[in-house]
Amino acid sequence: MDGADRRIPDWEAVLAAIGPEFGDFLLAHRDPTRFATFAATPAVETLARRPRALPEEGTGLSEPLREVRRLVLDEGYANGAHPQYFGYFHPRPLPAAVLGDAIAALLNQSPAAWRMGPAATALECEALAWVADFVGYPPAAPGALPGVFTSGGSAANLAGLKLARDVVLGRATQETGVAGSAVRPTFYASTESHYSIARALDILGVGRAALRLVPAGPHGAVPAAAVRDQVLRDIAAGHTPACVIGLAGATATGAVDPLDALADLAAEHGMWFHVDGAAGAPFAALPETRAAFAGLARADSVTVDPHKWFFVPYGLGCLLTRDSAEAARSFRGGAHYWRIEDQIDMVFMGPEGARPWKSLGLWLALRQLGRQGYAELLLGNLAVARHLAELVRRRDGFELFAEPTVPICCFRLLPPGEGHGDAEVDAFNEDAQRTLVEGGEFYVTTCRPGERTYLRVAVSNFASRPGHVEALLDRLDDIRRR
Ligand SMILES: *Cc1c(COP(=O)(O)O)cnc(C)c1O
Repeated sequence: MDGADRRIPDWEAVLAAIGPEFGDFLLAHRDPTRFATFAATPAVETLARRPRALPEEGTGLSEPLREVRRLVLDEGYANGAHPQYFGYFHPRPLPAAVLGDAIAALLNQSPAAWRMGPAATALECEALAWVADFVGYPPAAPGALPGVFTSGGSAANLAGLKLARDVVLGRATQETGVAGSAVRPTFYASTESHYSIARALDILGVGRAALRLVPAGPHGAVPAAAVRDQVLRDIAAGHTPACVIGLAGATATGAVDPLDALADLAAEHGMWFHVDGAAGAPFAALPETRAAFAGLARADSVTVDPHKWFFVPYGLGCLLTRDSAEAARSFRGGAHYWRIEDQIDMVFMGPEGARPWKSLGLWLALRQLGRQGYAELLLGNLAVARHLAELVRRRDGFELFAEPTVPICCFRLLPPGEGHGDAEVDAFNEDAQRTLVEGGEFYVTTCRPGERTYLRVAVSNFASRPGHVEALLDRLDDIRRR
């Protein structure tokens, strides 16, 4: 090697040089309790706002890796691997999935187009079919694709609502835009729906005002009758109901909407039925929770987010669709430098272009664990959340929001003594959460379903056990009494 070549070491040289530093990262995964559940020092915040100058001369890898280790693990770490991290969905990734990411990056294959990765495309198609099978979505017709992988649930929701827009408003909308359509479409979702739904309608030119947010009920699910009333009011006012969006697991509370009744409503009025299962869809696989998801199989499109409860690293969402021909029309494209042949080019199934081969990790994990192995991991998380709900119900000074359907348990602390107003109880819970998180041993978030503050505990770490939520409750009891 000479000249510039010498600066780009081969793999053996890289591994020999960085062995000790890389070992630290592996250790963080093996024993995550050595690090705080969450850290963010002022130095990290300064770095985000005031980047240093681009280095003119290279330093080699050891020093920058030591810096990454220090910055991430000690100073700015969202430690989802910690069994007492119960924050937003931040699963501890399965080793097989991490390995998949490494192999995919090393070989640099993309399933976006056949010519960018033939085997990557094939295995991605298989992984898609397996996700559909796992959550109980009907298989695609022979030779058709059951959907498309995306970078996450937000992109999947965008893709699903694009299909709804094009199919209900008509293909001409793709040429003229929504402004060219005489139809005034309306979309329906719960007040608990994810913000990516409103944003998707904004991006699609339908407009946020077209989204009818129907108030969720006391346990977090939207009442189908209230959605129906809104649909009828809109029809009377000259709107065209275009799409019903059902939540298969609300981000905040985990509640599952009455999907079967929403599917009926969609069918009655010729609406598209989209299910946002980014949070909860994997639980449709378990005999213990399957009944709550009845109707999911009737959806025209379903968002699933493997980087949540399939325990793979960030960057993998998924849209399942009943009719891949509709998707191919909605996301058609081409270029003069690209001879389109009869091969599978995923890039024409969704909104994204060249994508990393993130599904390899999922494929490996599904092969390694099988349906049963995955079901056991999910059931383990559910058991921990249900155990917590049971403890909350039995303990004085605690109030449960609802029995968990998926492993999210929301509850609140009641301040000692009598006669506290709502605002005071809300502030008490906000303070308790802050105190808990500052301790570095636990991480939970707050949410406000029905405009009241609750602590939110999501169990998405396969290493979390009942003892970890027992410890959480004891700690919260201390904070409550202080
Ligand atoms: C997380 C989530 C999303 C968004 O998914 P990202 O992967 O963060 O883009 C959408 N809907 C629901 C219900 C979610 O919980």
